[in-house]
Amino acid sequence: MQEKYQVIILGSGIAGTMLGTILAKHKVKVLIIDKGSHPKFAIGESTIPYTTFTIAGISELFDIPELHPANIRQKIAHTSGIKKNLSFAYHRPGQEQKKEEVTQSNSGVAELHFFRQDLDSYLLNVAIHYGATVKQNCSISDIEFSSDGKNVLITSQEGEEFLGSYVVDAIGYSSILAQKFNLRENPTHFKSHTRSLFTHMINVPYFEICVHSQKAHGMPVSFYEGTVHHLFDGGWIWIIPFNNHKDSTNPLCSVGLQLDARRFPKTDILPEQEFLEIVSKYPSISKQFNNAKAVRDWISIPQLQYSSKKCFGDRYCLIPNSYGFVDPLFSRGLASNCGGVKYLATLILEAVKDNDFSEERFQHLEQIYRKEIDLHDNLVYGAYIAFKDFELWKCWQGVWTIAEFINFFQIVITLTQLKDGNPNPFKKLDIVGPVQELNGFIKQAVNEMQQVETGNLSTEAAARNIKELLQQVDFLPEPLKFSFSKRFYKPSMLKLMEVAHWLKFNSTPQVKTYYENFNPYKFNQIVKEMAKT
Ligand SMILES: Cc1cc2nc3c(=O)[nH]c(=O)nc-3n(C[C@H](O)[C@H](O)[C@H](O)COP(=O)(O)OP(=O)(O)OC[C@H]3O[C@@H](n4cnc5c(N)ncnc54)[C@H](O)[C@@H]3O)c2cc1C
Repeated sequence: MQEKYQVIILGSGIAGTMLGTILAKHKVKVLIIDKGSHPKFAIGESTIPYTTFTIAGISELFDIPELHPANIRQKIAHTSGIKKNLSFAYHRPGQEQKKEEVTQSNSGVAELHFFRQDLDSYLLNVAIHYGATVKQNCSISDIEFSSDGKNVLITSQEGEEFLGSYVVDAIGYSSILAQKFNLRENPTHFKSHTRSLFTHMINVPYFEICVHSQKAHGMPVSFYEGTVHHLFDGGWIWIIPFNNHKDSTNPLCSVGLQLDARRFPKTDILPEQEFLEIVSKYPSISKQFNNAKAVRDWISIPQLQYSSKKCFGDRYCLIPNSYGFVDPLFSRGLASNCGGVKYLATLILEAVKDNDFSEERFQHLEQIYRKEIDLHDNLVYGAYIAFKDFELWKCWQGVWTIAEFINFFQIVITLTQLKDGNPNPFKKLDIVGPVQELNGFIKQAVNEMQQVETGNLSTEAAARNIKELLQQVDFLPEPLKFSFSKRFYKPSMLKLMEVAHWLKFNSTPQVKTYYENFNPYKFNQIVKEMAKT
């Protein structure tokens, strides 16, 4: 008799291993198959509070302490970087970077630049610890779904067969199920059109050494302790150091260049040469790369965007990163991916309990995935247009932080509820918070950018209009908004008290309902706990 698994997961990256862990912990017989083996390089290194708190939510909801961000940090602290901010420096060709043209967003949450090979290996071991079976170096040649709707049969190139009741595709861009069921949208419905070149480097000195001191740029946290974004008209460069704290044993730094693919179509130039050519146009960026050296081959992705018509079907489902992707900007990939895993795991556990994997049970996921990815597309689309002009970029940073803080606040409030003994606030599949209001606001802001793109509106006029839109936003507490005069957002206990005051005295009854469980002390405590090791 062939062994039968309840769930087979294809792909053992973050999503596959987290899902495998959750299912195994809850006594589901699960198999994880990967065509490669750990440790191995993976991209997706920079986190945001939304990522960290989503992972914390998974840890709490499914009772898996090993997934708590503080415990993850302890395991991979020496090779991962610390992240206290996202910093942005605006550049013009041939000119030194102006210190007045830097901006910053600080969450107050101690986060990480994940050195993925160590994180993914750790997560694989956690999955094994809880009872998942793992098959590495296994290339799949075929997937068949039995006509009686009961079985999924996966065959490897070596002829091995694996039988399951349900299969999850956590492969990403090359998703086998998206290919098999012709799920990809071609072309994608996204507005963003970008491409990427990336690698790991050594000898990348930090911003404050070679561009401006912290005193000069005036931001509250050093760029060194976060993800640096060098912005220019047509694209941006990320610098994600793993060596930015005293306990680091990892000299590497992740570097990536993203370009608007319509303005910079891919050519035959080698990625490293293309990177150096672009960098050489910007004197202050050049300073950070004068002695830098790639320690692995550059990877070039000619089109970052992919999307799907559907994320589920009879006996199968895709995780968000198999369903679609937009761009690394704003580091939302891991957050959406882990958020999707949380919902999917909840649905699978219920399906296993009822022994009913019918596809209708999974249809809610479509709305969840779509909402996330379309929001990201809008934010990225607007940002690449905003890169034309620093004032416009500042306004777009204001737009982005509104979306970011709504996600962040909702998830921390939910975590507070869980700690207060609410049986399962995370289990709700409803999308919470001022979703309609946010969507309406983003639509208006994107409309301004579309007019800039078509040449019907100047960047100055768009900046003015977006500033007005930002002033009208009444669904995010005023103290949480990006400060145009200071060019940064910095949280504090005082700010949280101001939020509580604003909610009590200045918000509408409807807005109050979105934040009704907000308590500044508990909120602060949870954020602080996340930093504990
Ligand atoms: C250039 C770039 C930069 C990014 N930067 C960020 C960032 O800074 N922050 C962020 O939050 N997100 C970022 N993302 C998104 C992020 O990479 C993904 O959300 C995340 O890594 C996906 O994790 P995963 O576990 O789903 O997939 P992966 O980590 O890609 O894992 C997929 C697994 O599937 C396996 N596999 C592949 N083919 C097969 C097959 N045929 N059969 C079986 N197994 C297979 C692979 O070996 C791999 O182990 C970035 C994405 C890109 C493209």
